[in-house]
Amino acid sequence: MIYCVEDESSIRELMQYTLNMAGFEATGFSGSEGFWKAMASALPELIMLDIMLPGEDGISILKKLRSSPVTADIPVILATAKGSEYDKVTGLDLGADDYLCKPFGMMEMVSRIKAVLRRTKPRQLPELLNQGDITLDPARHTVTAGGQVVSLTLKEFDLLKLLLESNGQVFTREALLSAVWGADFIGESRTVDVHIGTLRTKLGNAGVQIQTVRGVGYRMEGQP
Ligand code: CA
Repeated sequence: MIYCVEDESSIRELMQYTLNMAGFEATGFSGSEGFWKAMASALPELIMLDIMLPGEDGISILKKLRSSPVTADIPVILATAKGSEYDKVTGLDLGADDYLCKPFGMMEMVSRIKAVLRRTKPRQLPELLNQGDITLDPARHTVTAGGQVVSLTLKEFDLLKLLLESNGQVFTREALLSAVWGADFIGESRTVDVHIGTLRTKLGNAGVQIQTVRGVGYRMEGQP
């Protein structure tokens, strides 16, 4: 769903019509009042926002959108009047994703909308990390080893995730310490050994996949 805030009814209707023809659902609003009412019940994928509006203008609307965590990520394309460089710059500073100078062609609008939607598509959920018998699901924060669910502490989880992500790379204890515990953690490299130890135990038979590299540190066994 695309919301079009535009006070000129002929333009607004043309926008809606064109968007519908391009396969988008679109709803038009002549001003901020109807727009905010609609925002309270359903959020759009993108907002086409005219700057010059009677009452609350587009810049003020954009400012409010960006200041609320609920609406901050909704892509906004501004429509600016020709020659209003100031509005354009202000709009981009405030976090508009793109702008169109009036008068703009409807096909140009559709291609800009598609481009912004491609750019701002919500990030895919992280994929499962899998190595040998171990599977880690970053999104659900779960680990299984040999099909059995393994309950890990936060640090053990982070440690395992790092090892799984790095595809056989060897980490020194210091590197693991700073990556998992943070660079300013005051601790000994023995902390890492202890956690690797409990991690191996909890992983059962799959624990051998975490290999000790003598004199260096640890690595996750690569694919056989
Ligand atoms: Ca206007």
